[in-house]
Amino acid sequence: MMPLCKNPYNPEDPNDGTDMLGGGPPGVFERVTVDYIVTGCARVEWTISSHFHDPEPWEFQLQVAEADIASANWIDVGPPVTNSFFTTDPNQRWYGKEENAFYRVKLTTPNGTYFSSSISTEGKLPFKLWNFAREIVRKEILRLRALGVGIEGWLLKAKRSGVPCTQCLDPRTGEVTDSNCATCYGQRWVGGYYTPIPTIFGDIAPSNSYLNRQIEGGEGMVNVRTTQGIFVASPFIAMNDVWVNKTSDDRYHIHNVDPLTHVRGVSLIVKAELRLIPSDNIIYRFPVPN
Ligand SMILES: [Zn+2]
Repeated sequence: MMPLCKNPYNPEDPNDGTDMLGGGPPGVFERVTVDYIVTGCARVEWTISSHFHDPEPWEFQLQVAEADIASANWIDVGPPVTNSFFTTDPNQRWYGKEENAFYRVKLTTPNGTYFSSSISTEGKLPFKLWNFAREIVRKEILRLRALGVGIEGWLLKAKRSGVPCTQCLDPRTGEVTDSNCATCYGQRWVGGYYTPIPTIFGDIAPSNSYLNRQIEGGEGMVNVRTTQGIFVASPFIAMNDVWVNKTSDDRYHIHNVDPLTHVRGVSLIVKAELRLIPSDNIIYRFPVPN
């Protein structure tokens, strides 16, 4: 019996809204990655082409096999996930020994079934380096907690593919016409964001709020509250994602993401600037867990 992996951010729920996916036939899966940054278990993340428009739901199932060929004996790993861009393998497959194993992601939609290409369960780094990387991240989180600057929150990962918004897209240009659209939250894709992910933000700015001037839509200068700090890069935070303060419910757009600590090109810790979103924005109606 393999030991179960735990997610330190949400020990109650080993499958807290994470999904995974793989490469696949050209045009469906664009990218699949495996990392061991946070949990010691594999976390598999994927990107689906923005040109793939099958109707929802999209159900993703992680599979594992001992050979990276289609005729191998692919076995389902963990429960299927929907409305997500990654999943975790609940089983710890590594014991420091050499092992050939591969993941792939199966996507099932009302229109068909698609498979990603296969990827080594080791990911980009040898497992010894993943252990080293995890230790760096663990110490950084401990340090944040000791300093009292780690803030609990939710990451809303902006969709970059999916079903195009049925309400607000200009039929000619395909552009979003309503930034406060209740269907896509101004993000172009139905639903706007994936299932919220529990994420700690390390607020390291000298003062956690200061005013920044920005010109918006010709309406002149506006004051925007910004804060700077760090995230663990799993999942990778990107510009335009949203971070929700669990206590205050303040919601921020993420800007200027820069790698801060990395091992052989794999980002472990990133620095980001957050900009507070005005309270009348539709994003405050996006549901997050209590
Ligand atoms: Zn819309």
